[in-house]
Amino acid sequence: MTAPSPLTTPRPRTGRRAAAALVLLVGCLALQPGAEAATPAATQAVPAAAVPDLGREILAADDGWAAEGAGTTGGSAADDAHVFTVRNRAQLVAALDGGSSVPKIIRIAGTIDANTDDQGRALDCDDYATDGYDLPAYLAAYDPRTWGGAKPSGPQEDARKASAARQAERVELRIGANTTLVGLGRSAVLKGASLQVRDADNVIVRNVELRDAYDCFPVWQPNTGGLGDWKTAYDTLWLRGATHVWVDHVTASDKGRPDEKEPTYFGRNYLRHDGLLDITNGSDLVTVSWSRFQDHDKAILIGNGDTVTTDRDKLRVTLHHNEFDAVVQRAPRVRFGQVHLYNNRYVVPEDAAYRYSVGVSTESRIVAENNSFTTPGHIEVADLLKSWNGSALAQSGNEFNGFPVDLLAIYNAYNSGSERDLTADVGWTPTLHGTVGSAAGAATDVARDAGAGRAG
Ligand code: CA
Repeated sequence: MTAPSPLTTPRPRTGRRAAAALVLLVGCLALQPGAEAATPAATQAVPAAAVPDLGREILAADDGWAAEGAGTTGGSAADDAHVFTVRNRAQLVAALDGGSSVPKIIRIAGTIDANTDDQGRALDCDDYATDGYDLPAYLAAYDPRTWGGAKPSGPQEDARKASAARQAERVELRIGANTTLVGLGRSAVLKGASLQVRDADNVIVRNVELRDAYDCFPVWQPNTGGLGDWKTAYDTLWLRGATHVWVDHVTASDKGRPDEKEPTYFGRNYLRHDGLLDITNGSDLVTVSWSRFQDHDKAILIGNGDTVTTDRDKLRVTLHHNEFDAVVQRAPRVRFGQVHLYNNRYVVPEDAAYRYSVGVSTESRIVAENNSFTTPGHIEVADLLKSWNGSALAQSGNEFNGFPVDLLAIYNAYNSGSERDLTADVGWTPTLHGTVGSAAGAATDVARDAGAGRAG
């Protein structure tokens, strides 16, 4: 592959990085008692320490925006007392330690369902419902034909909120600073959870499938988009005020419960899922690599409001070698951020719902290089981008159904006129990145190696 997931010890460059490398070295020596470092061991069995320990790995130097400054080492420096293997929600919650900043490595073994009680018993939406919440009663109370366009209020909305709070208490799991959350082996799954990194620095999430952050209690928002819409609460991973975050070899999807199978109420799809990865509110210096985002509507939101001007000069994110498969929109949608989007693979299956791939919004400055788009015949190049009050996007080396394509020129040529043309002047040039390979070569590598269970 052209830019493998880093499995070798990176060059120490900074204090934090050097400290982490020292820990790695000491760890290796400690695990090989009696080994003579200077003696080649060609005839000896490979020691256990030679098997990559994903939990101890750190982001390679220069691997995207999360490598800026002190880099991203997560919990790699954890002492032995803070290395946990967790097999159920209760153990995971205990290891997360309320989002503490103590360096820690948390290894997920097998499948963990966030919708469980402290005894490990599965909880469903009926278990959370309280204060008389009842969906038919809710629909009857807030039907726009009788309720009108006001925000829902009254007994059923109060009951919905109380019920939602009970689910949130179970499924919202906070990851603190200096933490690595990593799947053990090839089949680690976290179901139903909304992982949240809030106001924390230096976090790594790797090699885990994040599945079906299902909201039991969507709220009706009468005026969203003019028609009203159902709003759901949970992103599978939400970075809010988070800095130095590396997301790698993660698979995130609605697997098992697609929104398209949900009914329609008030003329709108009763959505159960929000974002797969939302990066908002002052988050900065994020690298998302070798991950798979699939079977979902709104995949990645970077910047959640045109008026959140405190996000200016933040939201710097690198997305490389990721797959977006059967994603309807937001891959990603960007406000304010300097986003480097390279060597990603986009696949729109025949008959899949689709709106656009890359959303260019307020003050965003995206550099899109050598990405590969594969779509059915009814989707055109001009559909790949969408602008809302966006101004700039630099691009080169992208391919559409196997042919080189100039995304910017075609967007501008086919722009309906409702938006101004985009310029190529984004005002910055990415410097923190690995090899930028050809779109076609990267697509092959990504199809083979991206996603949970494929690290190392
Ligand atoms: Ca969200």
